[in-house]
Amino acid sequence: MPDHVFGRSTGTVLPRAVRGDGCYIIDEAGRRYLDGSGGAAVSCLGHSDAEVRAALHEQLDALAFAHTGFFTTAAAEALADLLIDHAPPGLERVYLVSGGSEAVEAALKLARQYFLETGAPQRHRVIARRQSYHGNTLGALAAGGNAWRRQQFAPLLAETSHISPCYAYRDSAEGESPEEYGLRVANELEAEILRLGPETVMAFIAEPVVGATLGAVPAVPGYFRRIREICDHYGVLLILDEVMCGMGRTGHLFACAEDGIEPDMITIAKGLGAGYQPIGALLASGRIYDAIAAGSGFFQHGHTYMGHAMAAAGAHAVLSAILGRGLLPRVVTQGQRLDAALRSAFDTHPHIGDIRGRGLFLGLELVADKATKAPFEPERKLHARIKAAAFEAGLICYPMGGTIDGRRGDHVLLAPPFIISDDQIDELVDKLSRAVAVALA
Ligand code: PMP
Repeated sequence: MPDHVFGRSTGTVLPRAVRGDGCYIIDEAGRRYLDGSGGAAVSCLGHSDAEVRAALHEQLDALAFAHTGFFTTAAAEALADLLIDHAPPGLERVYLVSGGSEAVEAALKLARQYFLETGAPQRHRVIARRQSYHGNTLGALAAGGNAWRRQQFAPLLAETSHISPCYAYRDSAEGESPEEYGLRVANELEAEILRLGPETVMAFIAEPVVGATLGAVPAVPGYFRRIREICDHYGVLLILDEVMCGMGRTGHLFACAEDGIEPDMITIAKGLGAGYQPIGALLASGRIYDAIAAGSGFFQHGHTYMGHAMAAAGAHAVLSAILGRGLLPRVVTQGQRLDAALRSAFDTHPHIGDIRGRGLFLGLELVADKATKAPFEPERKLHARIKAAAFEAGLICYPMGGTIDGRRGDHVLLAPPFIISDDQIDELVDKLSRAVAVALA
């Protein structure tokens, strides 16, 4: 049968996935793949959650879709209420979309409109960090720090400038404490705001724990508190992109809880859908919403499928499961168990330079030389070889690397379902160890 699906890679033939069973995906040939990365930090409840499926069926039987130009729905309202009940203080409004890039677009446009309506139309610039990913639509791509991804679409992208990520393993100086390092890199934001002119800067966007581009790298303690201070001082909005690290993945519903800060906006997506429905959301402060309500009263943005009733009902069931089944403490204990298993398998490995992350959001960094932290040559495509070897062994993991935004390196991201069992953790680490050995051979 000819395959007319238009995917990412035109030349690759992929196995056909037919069924989900807890932490496993099963293909047409009956092969079982342990989902060690939840796809890309998506499937937090595994692939066959009965309550989410029941909620989707129930909503489908009642009403699948009612256009947000005409109606609200109980499903969308209940989801927004639950999110706000558990959100950091100050975040009071929810804008429901269909994925992560849409949530980031909405955040950037809401920031722009906020300044247009509060008498600061010259504030249009966005500052982000190098080696970052915030989505693939033109606005989100413009925000992200990945020269290679961006250059192909210039000049369509808005101008964004980029400061250093907070990446202590690679960038902290000899003898510098984590706190000193955090302050030093956070202060780059102030320097950049002053360079651009504070009256022109609208927002700073960053992931509290960097997912795809660095491999589960949390900021050092104090970094985001200093970032918050700088944003407050210069009137710049702070947008936290929790599309990957949010929704319980780090052991807190919102990853920024650990950093003790209150952002102006948070974007979420992957874990909120948990793979059952496409959904994303922007959480915004009451201050931003109220300014627009008092001004034009109309957010100049929207998508046909925003606030989709089935997506909202499914996401409400996902969120209720995360909050109600004790899954947040489970993420902490299973995260510690996975971390310990990774350390016992890789601590003395000559080519694993760092094991880091929070909760069930962990990363391994591969190095050619552990002492100098020198990365492997990009031509070796180590990340791609690990992905292939792991898949062959029946493990889905999320390696990334080569050269991203001028920085070389390879890492493997792990983000298994929160329901992963002790035995499955052992299976994951065993298969990953074998895949790393095959890739390095
Ligand atoms: N932000 C971050 C931090 C992400 O990791 C991603 C997806 N990898 C996105 C935004 C974009 O999300 P989506 O693919 O759902 O559009």
